[in-house]
Amino acid sequence: MLPPCLTERTGETERFIADYDTFLLDCDGVIWSGNEAILGVAKTIQSLENAGKRMIFVTNNSTESRSHQLAQLQKFGISCSIEQIFTSGYCTAIYLSQILNQRSQTQKSVFVIGNPAIVSELSEAGLSVIDPSTDAYFSEEVVLGHFEKIATGTPLHSDVGAVVVGMDLKFNYLKLCHAMHYIRNGALFIATNTDSTFPIFDTVFPAAGFISAALSHTLDVKPRVMGKPSQLMMEVVKKRYDLNLRRTCMVGDRLDTDIRFGVEGGLGGTLLVLTGVCGEDDLKKAEKNAEEGTLLPTAFARSFSVLDTEDEVSGLE
Ligand code: PLP
Ligand code: CA
Repeated sequence: MLPPCLTERTGETERFIADYDTFLLDCDGVIWSGNEAILGVAKTIQSLENAGKRMIFVTNNSTESRSHQLAQLQKFGISCSIEQIFTSGYCTAIYLSQILNQRSQTQKSVFVIGNPAIVSELSEAGLSVIDPSTDAYFSEEVVLGHFEKIATGTPLHSDVGAVVVGMDLKFNYLKLCHAMHYIRNGALFIATNTDSTFPIFDTVFPAAGFISAALSHTLDVKPRVMGKPSQLMMEVVKKRYDLNLRRTCMVGDRLDTDIRFGVEGGLGGTLLVLTGVCGEDDLKKAEKNAEEGTLLPTAFARSFSVLDTEDEVSGLE
């Protein structure tokens, strides 16, 4: 059976809202789509906050800093603080600072295949970051020279304790060579997320997952993943926000990341909204395969805005 479809201002929707104190909100596909806010969501968030609910924004997007995400939310009329924003890059910074700060001085640095947002998130957490996005990493002669250096055991840095892989518009072969050898020499292999694609301009492009997949393929090792649906991320979220799991609901537009994240994390509920990647057809397909272990949400809705319980203040929204 399909999960219930919530609609505006019904008793069922009110009971659903009453079941939770905290909503974990995915961003792209729930709050906004590309550069456009999703209609009515800002007012809905305000109405839920007026009813005493806590909102936490949990995104797999590691290409933007938390302050950028904050500015984006404010641009769409949502007032919140930076403490309410939780990105996979920030999660990586919290997780690694716990581990690496306990390690010896010889394993303190983090080699990043990512973008400036990940680098700044890790640096702000006090970690020492090696960012190979410099010209020195791009010429063919440099690649050939580095083969010999790496092979003879003289990598550029000898204190790498972790390799972090996220979305990198400047990804290249040499970065992969270095990352591979640091991991072979004992560095942790961390992926900010393993999303296969990200949506933009009504289509999709390769996302961070292809880079960690390249490393996994060369090393035959899987990364520790810091994005939804990984439960490593859930553990950090639970601790950071002191969640009462039974009273927390995950809201998202993807069954394979958001809904799985909430269900496997033991949250009280999950809500799939149809304003992003998944449509009703995907839900029907998941329902057919339910016996094979596909996860279903507690409920679904055409948009998060159906949870708005306050009267219209004007018809101009
Ligand atoms: N990764 C990248 C690079 C993105 O651009 C996006 C969405 O814009 C995501 C991941 C997914 O973000 P979310 O978890 O908010 O849907
Ligand atoms: Ca999303």
